[in-house]
Amino acid sequence: MSGDLIFQRLANRLREIGRLGLLRRRLTRNSPQGARIVADGREYLAFCSNDYLGLANHPRVVEAAIETARRCGVGEGASHLITGHSTVHERLEEKLAEFSRMPRALLFTSGYHANIGVITALAGPEDAIFSDALNHASLIDGVRLSRSPVVRYPHRDLEFLDEALGRCKADTKMIVTDAVFSMDGDIAPLPGLLALCERHDAWLLVDDAHGIGVLGAQGRGSLAHFGLSSPRIVYMGTLGKAIGVAGAFVAGIDDVVETVMQRARTYIYTTASPTLLAAAVEASLDLVRNESWRREHLAHLVHTLKGALGGAHARLTPSETPIQPLVVGENSGAVALGGALRERGILVPAIRPPTVPEGTARLRISLSASHREEDVLRLAAALREVGVGAAAERV
Ligand SMILES: *Cc1c(COP(=O)(O)O)cnc(C)c1O
Repeated sequence: MSGDLIFQRLANRLREIGRLGLLRRRLTRNSPQGARIVADGREYLAFCSNDYLGLANHPRVVEAAIETARRCGVGEGASHLITGHSTVHERLEEKLAEFSRMPRALLFTSGYHANIGVITALAGPEDAIFSDALNHASLIDGVRLSRSPVVRYPHRDLEFLDEALGRCKADTKMIVTDAVFSMDGDIAPLPGLLALCERHDAWLLVDDAHGIGVLGAQGRGSLAHFGLSSPRIVYMGTLGKAIGVAGAFVAGIDDVVETVMQRARTYIYTTASPTLLAAAVEASLDLVRNESWRREHLAHLVHTLKGALGGAHARLTPSETPIQPLVVGENSGAVALGGALRERGILVPAIRPPTVPEGTARLRISLSASHREEDVLRLAAALREVGVGAAAERV
């Protein structure tokens, strides 16, 4: 019957995703996030989370959430601009501004909301955006929704960018970049990008999802790592990765933050995130700032992994951050390798296109301060067992 074609088409599309080795499957976790998790009823040593400092299940953070839920309830019931904005939200925004050394900060429900909000608030069809080829999906979607013309520049290519900015006649120009690239772990050349913004009168939007908490003194992020400060910088930090909770914020000079608050639809038209989460973030920020042993231990684990992989080290991307991807190439190869590790009780996610470019499927190893040195050595031994070392030595 011609009226039933929509079902056929949908089923065919799903089959095609499967045929390309691109079907995504979820595990169901039965434990808190951590170095060891129970998933689908089995215990694993896990290298999958962005909980880089091991704070997602920290007793002080959990207690702050519980205590606040008792006092404030669990739901806000309104957007920030109506009655969803609490004293705890207000205080947290001040703390986040201080933490990131920016004049003012504005909370968002997630990094995805924040990126879409900030880009669409600051750029429109008359403007121009310059976006690194390996930027996160939320930046790409923000750029699309802004309807700004976009120049997608080759990864970290300052020369290309300098020329493109020089040719551009748009009113307002904005460079947008991941500070730490989420699937590669390398760091954007932020000082060079800021110099270009100064030369060409542009904004620099820095997405620090994987830098905040991890880089810089006291975990203040990628700007602190480079010692950068400028009214041209618009900073986006997320609170669900190293900070261990959920949410995000945009920070910058007062006029930038005010514009975002007035114009960002992902800020205006959504319910405020629960106050109990803001309280949990406050508790977490104290730990992030004061427990520098977490960052020191993490750096030691990165060093240990590279050392233990020996020759296979060549297949890790050149990353100094806790994101240590092992590029495999073919989708099926990455999935097979992930499966072989899983049989050995170790979880490492296989990342495939479109999350990464075609032909660069990889295992994305992410390290956390909650891992012990012996965990990393066990991962390296398992990788050798499944042939990673041998393959790299042939290269
Ligand atoms: C995870 C991530 C985001 C989105 O943050 P959420 O708070 O998880 O929505 C944005 N940018 C980058 C680079 C990310 O890795």
